[in-house]
Amino acid sequence: MTEGTACYLSLGSNLGDRAAHLAEALRRLHSHPRLQVCEVSSVYETDPIGPPEQPDFYNIVAQVQATCAAKELLEIVQQIEEEMGRVRTQRWGPRSIDIDILLYGKQTIDTPRLQVPHPQMMQRQFVLVPLAEIAPDLVLPDGHTAAQAARPADPTVRALDMQLPTGEAGL
Ligand code: ATP
Ligand code: CA
Ligand code: CA
Repeated sequence: MTEGTACYLSLGSNLGDRAAHLAEALRRLHSHPRLQVCEVSSVYETDPIGPPEQPDFYNIVAQVQATCAAKELLEIVQQIEEEMGRVRTQRWGPRSIDIDILLYGKQTIDTPRLQVPHPQMMQRQFVLVPLAEIAPDLVLPDGHTAAQAARPADPTVRALDMQLPTGEAGL
């Protein structure tokens, strides 16, 4: 039986070897004693938001079972970002790895450091399309399912037909 809280994470990279950064972040998440990576979407190449003239992102969504509080999950993902050498320059600027918490079970959290569900998730097809791939029937904050909210034909989100190692396979 799977224990813990079902969480969904959005991972993105637009610097260096983007697929390798995503795979490394998944490996680090899965090797944490409080986390189990259960499902991973395929990889999507997406147009950057924010400052123009930066490389396209590779984005995935992962479903993780967490036996820790949401606050600790944020600390874990921020530590992984830091260990992987993410340099915080400008907001929404290029980064080797960005890990956002989309959902933590059915909890709503609104603190200065952590807002869950992620406040922008419903406006971002680079989140909704991979989320709908792994959890089409998941009910989102606005009451729609992921499949209803996702626009797979959106030209800013391009499926690469590339699968990174998942919890059951390589991790
Ligand atoms: P966006 O959140 O719009 O995608 P970003 O990912 O570029 O922007 P960051 O610089 O990575 O923003 O994070 C800024 C802060 O957001 C973090 O220090 C963290 O405290 C806060 N934060 C709030 N809610 C969340 C969440 N659900 N997941 C990750 N970080 C969050
Ligand atoms: Ca982000
Ligand atoms: Ca972030």
